[in-house]
Amino acid sequence: MKKKPSLEIWFVTGSQHLYGETALRQVAANSEAIVRELNGGGGLPVNLVFKPILTRPEEIRSLCLEANAAPQCAGLVLWCHTFSPSKMWIGGLTQIRKPMLHLHTQFNRDLPWAEIDMDFMNLNQAAHGDREHGFLHARLRTQRKVVVGHWSDPETREQIASWMRVARAWQDWQGGRFVRFGDNMRFVAVTEGDKVAAEAKFGFSVNTHGIGDLVAVMDQVSDGAISKLCAEYEALYAVAPALRKGGARHEALRYNARQEIGLRTFLDDGGYLGFTDTFEDLHGLTQLPGLATQRLMADGYGFGGEGDWKTCALVRAMKVMASDLPGGTSFMEDYTYDLNPSGHLVLGAHMLEICPSIAADKPTVEIHPLGIGGKEDPVRLVFNAHAGPAINVALMDMGNRFRFLVNEVEAIVPPHSLPKLPVARAVWKCQPDFKTACAAWISAGGAHHTGFSYAVRTGHIEDLAEMAGVEVAVIDAETTLRDFKQQLRNNEIYYHLAPGLGRL
Ligand code: MN
Repeated sequence: MKKKPSLEIWFVTGSQHLYGETALRQVAANSEAIVRELNGGGGLPVNLVFKPILTRPEEIRSLCLEANAAPQCAGLVLWCHTFSPSKMWIGGLTQIRKPMLHLHTQFNRDLPWAEIDMDFMNLNQAAHGDREHGFLHARLRTQRKVVVGHWSDPETREQIASWMRVARAWQDWQGGRFVRFGDNMRFVAVTEGDKVAAEAKFGFSVNTHGIGDLVAVMDQVSDGAISKLCAEYEALYAVAPALRKGGARHEALRYNARQEIGLRTFLDDGGYLGFTDTFEDLHGLTQLPGLATQRLMADGYGFGGEGDWKTCALVRAMKVMASDLPGGTSFMEDYTYDLNPSGHLVLGAHMLEICPSIAADKPTVEIHPLGIGGKEDPVRLVFNAHAGPAINVALMDMGNRFRFLVNEVEAIVPPHSLPKLPVARAVWKCQPDFKTACAAWISAGGAHHTGFSYAVRTGHIEDLAEMAGVEVAVIDAETTLRDFKQQLRNNEIYYHLAPGLGRL
């Protein structure tokens, strides 16, 4: 994938001129110290950049406009070290288009009970300075995340880090491009949606190319490049003997390598962050891309099967959020159940396209027939996903709005081997329990395609939804069906009225 410019988050401190130049110099020095310590302490996935203290409306407006125009700026951390009368901020905050985190902290940690005087009070007044700031954000209906705690507190740092990961994904979506090879699987409802509304809300565009455009690029791939990639497959995976060099079906592996190189070239030349395809539109391809798609996902590209561009964009965002975290993220589909009363498990899989970033062990490369599509046998990576807490996330177009839906799950080691199942799979238990989770998911119109991740947490998706200003519903250990359904009803009303609750 083409390298993107490295991102930064601006650290912005508000103050005013009442305190005199000496105090302002101290405010600046303290803010710089916080930035230095936060950056130096490790754990922040994006570099914080100190910005000069803001004390006048024109400076504030100018900085906000500069942030909007800066492609490297993924968001702002705001803090009022002292009191910064917030009418000064109206001109800036009504313009800002980048995600904001309001850090409610204080430079000094412990109150010096025996020494405290008015000089100390002047330099440690975020307790009310940030309230003035918070009022204006609320008054303007400004989207922001509020994080509270001393800046040296590991929990504070972790919350900033978590938000940064989401801001990084949000910036990636802005102007991001996704390509669909062909349209949707015929007659499927949930993979449809309003691409105009999606671009206006989320910032990414979705456009189509005929599969023949991809075939033309694949035709240009050299034999040498194909041989080199096949050797890489044999080095990385347990390749079935028939597919290896000299094997009876090696040509199928070579064809997959051609698909992979062609897809990668097409995506990179077009600046695309992900793609969809559909088994119902493969004219000119001899098989549905399997191994190729799986490996592209592992490299961070988004993917959605059967033309599912919303899940494609979601998988990409989840991969960008999680790019510095362990665990793995994949396109997923709730495929089949184990309804044994002692189990109630979900087996997640797809026709082929599960990302090896979630594999428990070294995947095998296999070739098997595909029951649908009427094409040659596709090559695919086969593996079990590893055990651990994970989430499933779906994104639906509800007609008047988008809805994110999250279910927290516990992936487990499959209780039995699956010797005849020729696709990668994950097995999980739903929170709070199978019946509640499935009833809630289906009540919310949750899609059968999801982004499945061990690295992304519910809080990330909540932050993402808030940045976009769209609904998020969560099914977790605390969920009761009665409350969940009432929340959906409440959201119907809120999101119907929300356009009228814009900046006031
Ligand atoms: Mn599917």
